[in-house]
Amino acid sequence: RAMATSLLRVAPPEKLLRPLAVPERLLLGPGPSNVPPRVRAAGARQLLGHMHPEVLQVMDEIKAGIQYAFQTRNRLTLATSGSGHSAMEAALLNLLEQGDSVLVAINGIWGQRAAEIARRLGAKVYELLKPPGKYFTPRDIEQGLVQHKPLVLFITHGESSTGVLQPLEGLGELCHRHGCLLLVDAVASLGGAPIFMDQQEIDVLYSGSQKVLNAPPGSAPISFSERARAPGSDTGPTAPSCARGCLTWGWSSLWRRRWVQGKPTTTTTTEQGQREDTALCNWRCAWAALDARERTLPSVMLSPGTVLGSAGAVALKKARLPTITTVRVPQGYDWKDITAFLMDKHGMEIAGGLGPTVGKVLRIGLMGCNSTSGNVERVLGALRDALQRCHRSRL
Ligand code: PMP
Repeated sequence: RAMATSLLRVAPPEKLLRPLAVPERLLLGPGPSNVPPRVRAAGARQLLGHMHPEVLQVMDEIKAGIQYAFQTRNRLTLATSGSGHSAMEAALLNLLEQGDSVLVAINGIWGQRAAEIARRLGAKVYELLKPPGKYFTPRDIEQGLVQHKPLVLFITHGESSTGVLQPLEGLGELCHRHGCLLLVDAVASLGGAPIFMDQQEIDVLYSGSQKVLNAPPGSAPISFSERARAPGSDTGPTAPSCARGCLTWGWSSLWRRRWVQGKPTTTTTTEQGQREDTALCNWRCAWAALDARERTLPSVMLSPGTVLGSAGAVALKKARLPTITTVRVPQGYDWKDITAFLMDKHGMEIAGGLGPTVGKVLRIGLMGCNSTSGNVERVLGALRDALQRCHRSRL
């Protein structure tokens, strides 16, 4: 033992001897959002083995929960092990092969990110561009479909970098008329803005756990239509035209065993892991509250007379994303001073811009259990305080 100790060259980290201390914070940024007590309690429960029947039952319940939240009857409906990015990557990876064409609607960072992933997969990427703050009309989309004849269209429902809500009505039908699959990112919008996967003919839809669902990050719901899978196959999602070999095993074959055939897999505890067990239980609890979401609070924040007044960064009211409100950085202020002040003095997180909106906007999230009039008052009060006490340039 003495010899083993003498071989150690790296000292044990003293900080880890102390239990974790986590400050109380109100998370009103674009995610993560606060986790309500019932969900936290589910996360604190003892871990079960991946072969235990209770785990399979929990997975069935999660699947039913996702089907409800997405409004779909798709059999291939599951939760990936990872944050929203894992579902984004898994969706593109399962739909596209080298040389396939994909049309990506870009009006913020998430379209840019999808285009980047698709390029890395060797797909032919066509970009359909709109300035940040604007959404795509069916006419814009149809022009792109006619011009590029893509196999897949990617579009973001809730553009969290700009605060835009993309209308989805008619897009599924349009895509199908042009022989294209519709892939929708609803990471920032699911549960805060209506979405109806089957009725809207969406082929692949995904979201994330740490936004409106109020669970910790690390799990992302995703669902594939029958159209997005090889006909008659349950080997995982594949594009309709050919029997494709998906690039990864974990994001395709493993799904079939686990979520379609209901077989426990030895990788469950490593890949799905303790965090998944908790996150997935969490979701089961969070779903019940989705119907009753408050949708009018963002407009209260921006109403005349409040400190934010008419600072809304998305001009068209109906284009505003209810879950994340973008407001222009008040003139003369540095956005970093404001976010730091709210954090230091009010224990509250809001965020600056992202991608094309960096330096231009503040982003305030009202997601799930955080979407209350009390929190709106708190953030408006904290912002009033910040504008009085942060440095303002008069130039
Ligand atoms: N898509 C959108 C629209 C998002 O808002 C986010 C997260 N902000 C993501 C994808 C990526 O999700 P995550 O950060 O959970 O990986």
